[in-house]
Amino acid sequence: MEVVGSVKRVAGPVVHATGLKANMYDLVLVGKEGLMSEVIGIAGERHIIQVYEDTSGVKPGEPVKETGGPLVAQLGPGILTTIYDGIQRPLPLLAEKSGDFVSRGLFVDGIDHKKKWEFIPVVKKGDIVKPGQSLGLVQEQLLIKHKIMVPPRHKGGTVKEIYSGNFTVDETVCELEDGSKLTMLQKWPIRVPRPVNKKLPPSIPLRSGQRVIDGFFPLAKGGTAAIPGGFGTGKTVMQQTLSKFAEVDVVIFVGCGERGNEMADLLHEFPELIDPKTGRPLMERSIVYANTSNMPVAAREASVYTGITTAEYYRDMGYDTMLTADSTSRWAEAMRELASRLEEMPGEEGFPAYLSARLADFYERSGRVQTLGGEEGSVSIIGAVSPPGGDFTEPVTQNTLRITKVFWGLDTRLTQRRHFPSINWLESYSLYEQDLEPWFTENVDADWVKNKRRAMAILQENAELEEIVMLVGSDALPEEQQLTLEVARMIINYWLAQSAFHPVDSTATFKKQFDLLASLLKYRDYAFDALAKGVPIDTIKSTPSKDALAKIKLEEDYVPVLQNVLAQMDAEFKAMK
Ligand code: ADP
Ligand code: MG
Repeated sequence: MEVVGSVKRVAGPVVHATGLKANMYDLVLVGKEGLMSEVIGIAGERHIIQVYEDTSGVKPGEPVKETGGPLVAQLGPGILTTIYDGIQRPLPLLAEKSGDFVSRGLFVDGIDHKKKWEFIPVVKKGDIVKPGQSLGLVQEQLLIKHKIMVPPRHKGGTVKEIYSGNFTVDETVCELEDGSKLTMLQKWPIRVPRPVNKKLPPSIPLRSGQRVIDGFFPLAKGGTAAIPGGFGTGKTVMQQTLSKFAEVDVVIFVGCGERGNEMADLLHEFPELIDPKTGRPLMERSIVYANTSNMPVAAREASVYTGITTAEYYRDMGYDTMLTADSTSRWAEAMRELASRLEEMPGEEGFPAYLSARLADFYERSGRVQTLGGEEGSVSIIGAVSPPGGDFTEPVTQNTLRITKVFWGLDTRLTQRRHFPSINWLESYSLYEQDLEPWFTENVDADWVKNKRRAMAILQENAELEEIVMLVGSDALPEEQQLTLEVARMIINYWLAQSAFHPVDSTATFKKQFDLLASLLKYRDYAFDALAKGVPIDTIKSTPSKDALAKIKLEEDYVPVLQNVLAQMDAEFKAMK
């Protein structure tokens, strides 16, 4: 029998109701319009409910209906390419059904239940199948074969019948001896992590194509990173660049915009991004969750969970997935708003005391894993943080940094100098460095680690020297130190700086990153040698081959060009005696 309770009190997105039997996090429908809502507290007779839609007009005495379960994501072919709101309602469909504004009480399926997909079985009658195991494949998009799996909580069994052909997600594709009928649709509660066999160590880098990241502060496959930065420091550009170039199969972009136009930009820009792997729209292997400021705060709070659930689902097929959230500050603000409606004791700056636990639970869903089906997959999470006034001491930034293993701190001073990416190379860090060094040494170059340390030491010394230069000017420095300043300038401008918009330089292979840095260090060694032999510093600094090093990064086929420049450099320094 359907349980119906009644509204007692309405406080913005939070409703109190009595007469319900629902559990925590169950989905309930509030009011005459049946607004989608979630139970977030139970206090005696009272259920405390957050409503995903605008509650204006809802009055005490209106009904609250139970649905018998939690808010779930619908998982199956057709998720890719879709732009959703925070509770997995496809935005284009919502707009179609309700005009420009999302009307209330509108239930829309997360995926198309009418569309037929060609299912190609990979098991046969008599096979024993386990949870997570693949039953068959659907070519969902050019690069993505969608594995139709036995759901994680299903017990599996012996295949009695397996079909092939075109099916909707609701039609049976496999029957088991025990009578269970499996379809291409899974439903999963968004707040519960999907199970895996085991977590694997973060020992493989997630190539981003960005030199300052891969070279200095690398992310591991299945790792977590935070990008804090004030307004205009490049958070959004960085996340879009990573979406395009990071070596992942599936991209999940969760946009939590504060100003309406930020989201409008996202909805306009993301579908325009071209996938460098295919030359076709990046959307073909992406899922976008868009929250605008006029969407209810509870849906914004839910969006990161909906997003991470879909990331885990594709991971379970054996894919590398990456979720970027822009920005998690807006998500934390949604939590703060809900907490204040719940009249909870506020913590630091009004954020709820559980802010840090929620952030931790979210980032905890990352990881490189062995899936239930025995494959290797990963979920990497990159969260932008937009601290008010660019002040990193505020609670969201601080709590995030305690959890994530990589910190790419965006620096307003670098932005002002138009140095991009504006990742501060002195303050940022990656706690995966040691886990990843063996991989780089084995797979790119034995000198990867040594060169990186040398470059970082030069930049460190540069920072110290710059302070002196500010006081006394560079001419007062000994010539060795003047040369160090020059080499640091080259590392900063020729190597760390990388335009997100240049057709070639927007991404670089590990090998190119390495070769470029090695050539700068080679110049350094020649230069110090020459200086020791008494060559005047001006002669060293005006070596023509040095300036040629500036342009190598812009060359697609850089190897022969670099070889020429290095040969020229060799000749020039030999001639200097
Ligand atoms: P935020 O999201 O932090 O407010 P944006 O990502 O919108 O900032 O970046 C602001 C501007 O900075 C961009 O419009 C672009 O002009 C410039 N920018 C940021 N990152 C890069 C980059 N890697 N290469 C070139 N320009 C960049
Ligand atoms: Mg932005």
